[in-house]
Amino acid sequence: MLDAEPTGTTKALQMIRPRFALAFTSALLAATLLVACGPNSGSPGGNASVASAAEVQSTGVLAPAPAEPARVGATPQTSAPQPPPRASRSGFLVALDPGHGGDESGAAAYGVVERDSNVELAQRVRAYLVAAGVQVHLTREDNGRATGLITPGGDTRVSTRSDLQERVIAANRLGADIFVSLHSNGSGDPNMRGFEVYYESRRPFADDNYRLAKELLDGALKGAANAGHPSTSRGIIDAGCWRNNNGRCIGLFVLSPGGSPTSIGPQMGPVTAKEATNMPAALLESLFISSPDDAAMLKSDAVRASIARGIADGILRYLGIPA
Ligand SMILES: [Zn+2]
Repeated sequence: MLDAEPTGTTKALQMIRPRFALAFTSALLAATLLVACGPNSGSPGGNASVASAAEVQSTGVLAPAPAEPARVGATPQTSAPQPPPRASRSGFLVALDPGHGGDESGAAAYGVVERDSNVELAQRVRAYLVAAGVQVHLTREDNGRATGLITPGGDTRVSTRSDLQERVIAANRLGADIFVSLHSNGSGDPNMRGFEVYYESRRPFADDNYRLAKELLDGALKGAANAGHPSTSRGIIDAGCWRNNNGRCIGLFVLSPGGSPTSIGPQMGPVTAKEATNMPAALLESLFISSPDDAAMLKSDAVRASIARGIADGILRYLGIPA
């Protein structure tokens, strides 16, 4: 899937025809540009779109955010006279990264906006992890950008890459044990469905990246199945050559080694990440928003809860914590 060509879903962009209504075509175009973790073009320099958030929330399936656990720094508390709070008893800190945010909304179709869906799913995963004694840092808490970085009147691409970089920097600063980016997929082909996960083979802890990716994928698939919706695995994919630009591999921004060419979306070209994660990382694509059947799953409270539980269980297995 990741040789010299973009993935099949990117190719599928060429299949979009004018007969689609403009709004829907735009949604699918955005989705198509987000095969892995690339953002849509958004409005250069624009503000966060609250209309899209309202669209998703109007479905009534997205539950309110669980209470945020207390955050502490990366330094373990080794001499506390009292038992540590439940949220930190495992000693692990997980950085959950809901993909996209603000004026960069990701895939959107059938009343589901990826930006908003990602953060709601991350909040669910966090609740399960906190219940298991794992501390969680969300790179963004709402539908806005992670850092609030918007280039006034400037190029949204600059804002996006700065935003992604700040997510990595924050996870490093907090000393997170793993970095898990949560997305949903999009394609011009409404028949494309299922889960896929990305890892980076070019990191010193590539084996851990792969193991984390596998646990995420296995957990998400089990979660969907447990909700009565067995889904398709599209595999564990090396993001080190997510795109190929004249023989040069372009990786995904949040997974790539520092100083290497990365991408924040097919239309935006390669950029260079200054600082990579210090910890194992993987990026999960939960279902295709561009599929009416997958979108229906994403709009189901029960399915979302079960997928979130599966993702959390996968993280716990990776960390060696009994679920
Ligand atoms: Zn995405």
